Amino acid sequence: MSHYRRILLAVDLSDECRHVALRARKLAAASNAELDVVHVIEPLALAYGGDMPMDLCSVQDQIEEQARTQLAAFAAEFEVPADRRHLVFGRPETEIHRLAETANMDLIVVGSHGRHGLALLLGSTANGVLHGACCDVLAVRVGPGARDA
Ligand code: AMP
Repeated sequence: MSHYRRILLAVDLSDECRHVALRARKLAAASNAELDVVHVIEPLALAYGGDMPMDLCSVQDQIEEQARTQLAAFAAEFEVPADRRHLVFGRPETEIHRLAETANMDLIVVGSHGRHGLALLLGSTANGVLHGACCDVLAVRVGPGARDA
């Protein structure tokens, strides 16, 4: 099997992401691959069908500012250089697919809660990323039942 050259780590900036990031970093080091990190901000306008009340605009600005700061700290911790950090807007699955395709990624790494039952029927981001990805997808188990990296 040939080694991965470009790995895209998708993070929701939760604490659980550290576990996922450790896996991605180890894999990148072992494959001598470049590691990029992406966080997708879901615009409040998506929930409001584009008709967003004015006072929510400042909330959206705060969300963006906070995400920018958190992503910078997270990426610095995992030694991802500034030009490999991506903060984008939209639906996570769609934007992760888009970035993976335009930047020629050959592996996407996401966290997976290993949901079952109703939660599985409702879907998850990991599931959404897996379906329709242009490259391999590694789902790293997080949450209760996950083994240490
Ligand atoms: P979820 O299905 O929401 O529990 O998320 C599972 C995984 O999808 C997370 O561990 C991340 O790898 C990825 N993910 C979820 N939300 C986002 C987001 N807003 N931006 C980037 N990746 C995300």
